[in-house]
Amino acid sequence: MSTPVITLDKVSFSYGEVTALENICLTVEAGEFLGVVGPNGGGKSTLLKLILGLLKPQSGTVTVLGTPAESACRHLGYVPQFIRFDRQFPVTVLETVLQGRLDCTKSLFGYNAEDRERAFEAMRYTEIFDLAQRPISALSGGQLQRVLIARALVGEPEVLLLDEPTANIDPKVEVDVFDLLKRLNETITVVVVSHDIGFISNYISRVACLNRTLVCHATSHISGAMIESLYGTSLRMVHHDTHLSTT
Ligand code: ADP
Ligand code: MG
Repeated sequence: MSTPVITLDKVSFSYGEVTALENICLTVEAGEFLGVVGPNGGGKSTLLKLILGLLKPQSGTVTVLGTPAESACRHLGYVPQFIRFDRQFPVTVLETVLQGRLDCTKSLFGYNAEDRERAFEAMRYTEIFDLAQRPISALSGGQLQRVLIARALVGEPEVLLLDEPTANIDPKVEVDVFDLLKRLNETITVVVVSHDIGFISNYISRVACLNRTLVCHATSHISGAMIESLYGTSLRMVHHDTHLSTT
């Protein structure tokens, strides 16, 4: 029997008066590639922050790798929705990737040989090795996203959580990023938040649809009725080569 890596049991979270999530029950098994979709403000980023232990639910429990979420964050890799660092800051790709080792490194005097080896490995895997000495100000959107994925990987996480990883990059590069995530999923569990339900259905093994509550939690087929109940309107699905239907 497989062990769940993430379990949310009757979880509710509010920011003051604003209820972001209500009574969420969700289980993610080891090795899954889970997509989380839903409208803006539906609670997707809040869900990831609860899993990371950055927020605590007012009710319910979040269990990650068998422990309360806040104790497990060392084993999680996270690519946030909004990049909080200043892109003009004079820092190279290698230095940015190494930041992901801050939680792991035993050395008080900078990074050790193992940290560097892990960083090089993550950069080779994400195909940014040649950019190691490049300042991050001189990267394309797709390259920067790979740097952030490499930074999330150097801590050798068991689960990788990504919040809208392709929101600001062009569709051709989006395919490359998702192909990379698919390869990563051969060894680790991946949870990806996306606005693009049609596109990600090509990659994911399961989808959770969030709009304050968990509207649907399907195993494979995404139907028009599900999309309608999620977004409250009839959406026309265009141009994606998937099994979607809007009938
Ligand atoms: P999504 O990522 O799906 O767009 P969020 O999780 O960011 O949704 O937000 C869910 C709800 O919580 C929204 O109504 C949003 O306005 C609200 N919210 C998010 N962050 C904060 C915050 N720091 N303070 C107050 N309200 C917030
Ligand atoms: Mg969000």
